[in-house]
Amino acid sequence: MSMELDVRRIREDFPILRRQVNGRPLVYLDSAATSQKPEAVLAAVDRYYRETNANVHRAIHTLGEQATEAYERARARVARFVGAGDPRGLIFVRNTTEAINLVAWGWARQNLKPGDEILLTEMEHHSNIVPWQLVARETGASLVYVRLTPDGELDWADFKAKLGRRTRIVAVAHVSNVLGTVNPVDAICSEAHRAGAVVLVDGAQSVPHMPVDVGAIGCDFLAFSGHKMLGPMGIGALWGRPEILEGTEPLFGGGEMIAEVFPDHSTWNELPWKFEAGTPNVAGAIGLEAAVEYLEGLGMEAVAAHERELSRYAYERLERVEGLRIYGPRPPEKSHAGVVTFNLLSVHPHDLSMILDQRAVAVRAGHHCAQPLMRWLDVPSTARASFYVYTLPEEIDILAEALEEAREYFSHVLLG
Ligand code: PLP
Repeated sequence: MSMELDVRRIREDFPILRRQVNGRPLVYLDSAATSQKPEAVLAAVDRYYRETNANVHRAIHTLGEQATEAYERARARVARFVGAGDPRGLIFVRNTTEAINLVAWGWARQNLKPGDEILLTEMEHHSNIVPWQLVARETGASLVYVRLTPDGELDWADFKAKLGRRTRIVAVAHVSNVLGTVNPVDAICSEAHRAGAVVLVDGAQSVPHMPVDVGAIGCDFLAFSGHKMLGPMGIGALWGRPEILEGTEPLFGGGEMIAEVFPDHSTWNELPWKFEAGTPNVAGAIGLEAAVEYLEGLGMEAVAAHERELSRYAYERLERVEGLRIYGPRPPEKSHAGVVTFNLLSVHPHDLSMILDQRAVAVRAGHHCAQPLMRWLDVPSTARASFYVYTLPEEIDILAEALEEAREYFSHVLLG
C-alpha cells in the first residue's frame, strides 16, 4: 500500500521482526513506547565497543581521540537532524524525561519566581508535567493547563486566553502519545515569544516520525529520546538555544563539565560539555547517529507520509470493528500521527492486550503516562496501537481481526 517506503525491504533490516510470539509472527504495534532497532544501529554499537572503546575528552592516545571524534561527530549529526546548525546546543542526556528535567531544574529553577506561570496542556505525558510540578513547588510559580477541544486538539482560544504576561515558559508535546494529535508548535512559539515566554517542545513522538526543524519551529528547547527513533535505550538529547544555555547554570557537577576547579569554587566548561558531567553514553550516541543516518536514508517526509497513510487505514478498518471506541482527532482531515487509541466494549485494556498477545499482537494498554488526559477522556485506561517505518497495513488487518475475535469472546463473557 505504502508508495512512500518499501516496508518489506525495511523489515529485513530488523532482526527482531523475524521472531515468533506464541507460535505466530510478531505484530509489533508498540513503537510509540519504544521502537525496534535495525542492523545498522546494532552494528554501530557493537563496532564501537569492539574497535574504538575508550573514555572521551580525556585521553591523548589513539583510541581516546577516535572515541572523542566519533562522539562529537554523532552530536553534530543528531543536531543537524533536528535542524540545528550549531552542535553546541545539543546536549546528550538519557531520554526525553531527563531533557525536560534539565530545563526544569536548570533554566526554570533559576528564572521563575512566585506569580510566574508555567503553561502546559491537558495532553502532556507525565514527564512533561511532574518536573514542572516539582519546580513550581520550589519556586512558587504556578501551573496553568490549556484545554482540549472535544475531538482532542489543542483549544487555540484557550491557549491565547491563558498565555499572558505571567507566562514564563510554555511546555508542550509536539505530538500526543495517546491521541496522535499534532500540535501547531510553530504558531505556539510565535505567540509565546510575543508574550515574552520561552517554549519547550516535547519531541518524543515527533522527532522519530516527521521532519522536525528547530529553526522552522522557532522553539527554545526540544527534548527527544533515541530509543523511540530506532536508536539504543539510554541516549536522548536536549537541544537548547545556545544563548539561553550560556546563561544557564549547570545542573550536575563533576568531571568534564568544568574549566577549572579550586578548593572552594569552579568555573564551567563551554557548551555543550557544561551540561554533560561524567562519562557520557558514547556507544549510545554513536548508535543514535546510525539511527539518524538510517532515517535520513528513508527520508523523514516519506516516513511521515507512510504513518499518515497507516493511520488513515487504521481508522477506516478499526471503525468497522463493532463495539470499538476510538479516541482522538480523525485522520486525514485532522492533523494526526501514527497512533490509534481505543477501548473495546467495557473490557479492561489489560485483558484486551493479553488476548491480543496470544495472537502475537503487541499493543500498549494502560494510562500511557498521561493520567490527566485519561481523566479528560473519562476512562481509567485505553489500548493503543502505534506504527513505524516497519509497519505493514496487513498488520492492522491482523489487529482488527484479533479485536473482532476478542469482541466475540468478551460479549459472551460480559453478556453471559
Ligand atoms: N513525552 C512523550 C510525549 C512521550 O510519549 C514519552 C514516552 O513515551 C516521553 C515524553 C518520555 O520519554 P522517555 O521515557 O524516553 O523519557
